[in-house]
Amino acid sequence: MKKDIDESWQDRTKLVHGGTRRSAYNEVSEAIFLTQGFVYDSAAQAEARFVGAGDDEFIYARYGNPTVAMFEDRIAAIEGAEDAFATASGMAAVSGALTAMLRAGDHVVASRALFGSCLYVLEEILTRFGVEVSFVDGTDLAQWRAAMRPGTRAVFFETIANPTLEVIDIAAVAQIAHDAGATVIVDNVFATPIFSDAIAQGADVVIYSATKHIDGQGRALGGVILGSRDFIRGTVEPYMKHTGGSMSPFTAWIMLKGLETMDLRVRAQASSARALADALEGHSALSRVIYPGHHGHAQHALVTRQMGGNGGTVVSLDLAGGRRAAFAFLDALGLVLISNNLGDAKSIATHPSTTTHQRLSEERRAALGITPGLVRLSVGIEDTADIIADVTQALGTV
Ligand SMILES: *Cc1c(COP(=O)(O)O)cnc(C)c1O
Repeated sequence: MKKDIDESWQDRTKLVHGGTRRSAYNEVSEAIFLTQGFVYDSAAQAEARFVGAGDDEFIYARYGNPTVAMFEDRIAAIEGAEDAFATASGMAAVSGALTAMLRAGDHVVASRALFGSCLYVLEEILTRFGVEVSFVDGTDLAQWRAAMRPGTRAVFFETIANPTLEVIDIAAVAQIAHDAGATVIVDNVFATPIFSDAIAQGADVVIYSATKHIDGQGRALGGVILGSRDFIRGTVEPYMKHTGGSMSPFTAWIMLKGLETMDLRVRAQASSARALADALEGHSALSRVIYPGHHGHAQHALVTRQMGGNGGTVVSLDLAGGRRAAFAFLDALGLVLISNNLGDAKSIATHPSTTTHQRLSEERRAALGITPGLVRLSVGIEDTADIIADVTQALGTV
């Protein structure tokens, strides 16, 4: 099979062509290899493949598959990672990356502002197996420094925290972690693969929920772990292939087709998100408009350095009237959907304190800045003026 990759291509070209493997039919669009396994020419070939499958040789779909390999090669090429392992969901990637590398007695330092399921894995699951976890305010470098100790094996954080959109300084935290000999694992969903340069900035392992911007069309769950060839093939692959969290070939095909248009979608979404943040600034129903790309964001200088000034596709609004106002606003939306995905082509509004972060106590939510009035808006690819008009009319009813 012929495999396309030209390292001189720009990212937008790699998103369309990177990693393509054409079969003997020379198809234009990537083929879906919906097969659980592969046939060997001889018993000796089967034996040899189990000893060590070559770059373009496959054994069983839980271990690898040509469509899945195309997705892994394509996302690795644009992230600047040596290798990637595709998983059944974003959470399979988060739990897989952590569990694959940790053992009883290890210590992990994590940012406290995390997606609910990431928090659950760290707090409730890893600790059951003797891993100790410390939480810090991820924006406070002194807390990261103070939390490091000799057994610290990994640090884990969301580069942009959900849903308060605080930005964590990858280069600075990586320096602290590397000085302590720890591996830096980042959940990079909110930064998107388009605006991130996390590996160049010091992350050792980058994780995406492919469910978000990579599919970007609300069709499938998926995830990916990116890192060095050593980490992916030596640590992650043996764990994932034996525990069963691999991506299905059909999902990999959806994600490949998602990657083709991801740059166009994400840039259009980010441009509308910025326009929405601008339009809402100073609105009387809002106590805060949070958008990392906005000049008013508390960490604007860091956003400029880390993401080239790009703020991603999510805007968070804090309604001055609290929960009652937030519900009235959500119920008055016409175009924007009430749901809990993000990075989707469709604009989506979420009320974190009663849905995604419901499990946390009132106090923990308050410590994270998740107020009763906070609404997370994932900006889609609809016409910018229509999005702004819908959000503005709904705020007008509050
Ligand atoms: C959605 C999400 C996940 C989990 O991804 P799934 O594909 O839903 O399993 C993890 N981290 C962040 C930041 C997310 O937004």
